[in-house]
Amino acid sequence: MELTENKAGYCTITYKLRLYINHMDFVKLTKNIYNQVVLFYYNLLLENIEFLNLSNQYCLRELEKITIISRNGDVPKNYLDMELPTYFRRSAINQAIGSARSYISLLSDYEKQEGKKGKEPSITTEFNCSPVFYQGMYKELKKDSVMLKLWNGYKWEWFKAKLKGRAFDENLESMSPTLVINSRYVMMHLPVREIVEDVRPVKERMQDENLRVCGISFSNTDNIAICTILNRNGEFVKSKFISGGNYYKFQTDKILKQIKKHRQNGKKTLDKADHRTYWEKLNRIRQNTAHKVSKEIIDFCLENNVKVISITKLEDDVVGFGHKVGKYSPITLRRIIINYLSYKSFRAGILITTVRQNYTASKCHKCRAKVKRNESEFSCENGHNGNYYFNTAMNIGKMCLKKFGLILD
Ligand SMILES: [Zn+2]
Repeated sequence: MELTENKAGYCTITYKLRLYINHMDFVKLTKNIYNQVVLFYYNLLLENIEFLNLSNQYCLRELEKITIISRNGDVPKNYLDMELPTYFRRSAINQAIGSARSYISLLSDYEKQEGKKGKEPSITTEFNCSPVFYQGMYKELKKDSVMLKLWNGYKWEWFKAKLKGRAFDENLESMSPTLVINSRYVMMHLPVREIVEDVRPVKERMQDENLRVCGISFSNTDNIAICTILNRNGEFVKSKFISGGNYYKFQTDKILKQIKKHRQNGKKTLDKADHRTYWEKLNRIRQNTAHKVSKEIIDFCLENNVKVISITKLEDDVVGFGHKVGKYSPITLRRIIINYLSYKSFRAGILITTVRQNYTASKCHKCRAKVKRNESEFSCENGHNGNYYFNTAMNIGKMCLKKFGLILD
């Protein structure tokens, strides 16, 4: 999932959905034709470079004029003798225009260079673009299925495909999907416009009188994430310990044991199918847990009017205590939780900012003295003590306030 920030109060989220279709070969054929058409128009544009002075829309119109039979039956000089749906052709033409423009601009940069020149940009002779399905090429788009118009080798026909992945809101405005085809599977990338409550950048939010910032630390214990809310003076407001680390470890260990057992039963290596089943199970547990944690964080922030979330760039606060650090220990969820958080928070009108990791764990959040750590507890020479990860989260929140000049230390 990718996110593009816009100023107008909405953002575009690209949903990456797995597409299941009985006719994978037709998908590939369609992609093939798409790239042939792109190449045809690309070459035509390089022969008629003056078209590129026009806007994309007029350029497209001119290219259609010289390649499509007119209403009165005149065959144009560059007639493209292929049966193509209008919007399929237009999608390919726009792709060709983009590629031709990019080539011309690289070429002009190259020609401007003086002295020893770099490598001369070359003309593309083969395209491998993912086809973009404009209107008329897809219909009945739902969260679990879509109809696609595909080339079956003889003619264009509608085929139903199933979709799997994060459910998007069918009522929202979606834009042209792109089919991204791998050797093994097809993904449909679908941009959806979603409305965002608050689009102000972090700097502007930091001016709010009732600003609340949430510092988050991650741990390798049962508490996967520790959230602390601070007001603009750096004073503690509320905290939340999000647990689930032990259960996550229990679930993944169970699968890892199954794999081990599988190996002991004579099969030294897992065959591909087994491997995929186990891997998929592990992955599902990982994603479910990360979703749950990120949702709890967002809910907690929404309930308490938090507008900015602060996290560190790297995990520095993890080593030495809690579950053994391994591929499936709770701390490894950090990256995926942040990934989910980044789009969930944006939709909720909350922004995430990162701070440097220096001292977030090693200093006392109250007096800045060096802390001593005893498993999940901390203490400082001035008698402050408490949960180690709470202290870290407080420091992460404070670092954010400091970064924007609201507190000194
Ligand atoms: Zn202290």
